[in-house]
Amino acid sequence: MPDKRDYYETLGVTRTSSKEEIKTAYRTLAKKFHPDLNKDNPKLAEEKFKEISEAYEVLIDDNKRIKYDQYGHAGVASDFGKEGFTWRNFSHVSDLEDIFGHDIFYDFFGRGSIFSDFFGARRRGFEQPEQRVKRLQVEIALEQAYRGVSTEVAIPRSDKCSECGGSGSARGTTPKTCSTCEGKGEIQQEQLQGFGRIIKIGMCPVCIGKGNVIEQPCPICHGCGEVQKHDRINVKVPPGVDNGTTLRITADKTAGRLKEDIYVVISVQSHPVYHRQGSDIYMEKSISLTEATLGAKVDVPTLDGNAIMKIPPGTQTETLFRLRGSGMPYLKGHGYGDQYVRVLIRIPKNLTTRQRELLEEFEAIEMKKS
Ligand SMILES: [Zn+2]
Ligand SMILES: [Zn+2]
Repeated sequence: MPDKRDYYETLGVTRTSSKEEIKTAYRTLAKKFHPDLNKDNPKLAEEKFKEISEAYEVLIDDNKRIKYDQYGHAGVASDFGKEGFTWRNFSHVSDLEDIFGHDIFYDFFGRGSIFSDFFGARRRGFEQPEQRVKRLQVEIALEQAYRGVSTEVAIPRSDKCSECGGSGSARGTTPKTCSTCEGKGEIQQEQLQGFGRIIKIGMCPVCIGKGNVIEQPCPICHGCGEVQKHDRINVKVPPGVDNGTTLRITADKTAGRLKEDIYVVISVQSHPVYHRQGSDIYMEKSISLTEATLGAKVDVPTLDGNAIMKIPPGTQTETLFRLRGSGMPYLKGHGYGDQYVRVLIRIPKNLTTRQRELLEEFEAIEMKKS
């Protein structure tokens, strides 16, 4: 492992830079290195993204910055796990949300993006995998939002790799004891302070505190000792949910399948016919010139089946009709919204000679009337 880069250097700031300057530097670099924006080399971008995030985590925090200024990387090692900085140590997700929008949240906590693997590869042993999973997005059709639906969601989690039994070392090989720390995972560092010198115990940078080094990584888990699995649980979505409705799935109702509550955030697909506004549904319906002029009863589809709508004689185009109670069910409480139908009148094209004659005759009578 190469020497760790200086945090100030990583963010391109100086020891006297203000918090604002540090924030600006981080935002600029985060935009540059976000893995989703670097499709041709996402691995490298991930590494860079993590590196700048670690530097930011330390330099934006007064306490950590003071410790870092005084003791270098060893000064903040205890703030992170024994494997060093992981995304679990990153306490500024909201800053990333400001930069990238709320989607970054799902990326970080389990929507099956490259970050899930990334987390899995870096985290081992001392965290419950489920703690990462905070929210999952579930997309349903408008019809399902109308009736409610029971749907299966897959919650990502890391599991011990069965190929290597979690050691990360290829079958038949064993990890080698780290020669730098002689297997202790820690090293002593001597530092000058004032007129004296102090001995500090720090994490071994070669084996990142593990005490051993994998020479031949397991081909299945690539050395991290873990593989991604999914827990499947059933989620009951009640009628009337809308975009952004959040359902809390409590762990005790999943028969031990979840160790921590999760949030399921509903996203409702847009519909080719209906447009939803709160509990009301809007749609357009085309009717013929004769139906509009003479009046008619027309079939209108509804989320519940269909309805017969009465068009009175002399209806103008774009008239809005209301079908009371044909909208979405109220999520809390009883009852339904309404369905609004905007009628659009079809003007006939490609008339036959006879139709043309009749319309001309019709027009002649109209003229005489006025
Ligand atoms: Zn393995
Ligand atoms: Zn070591």
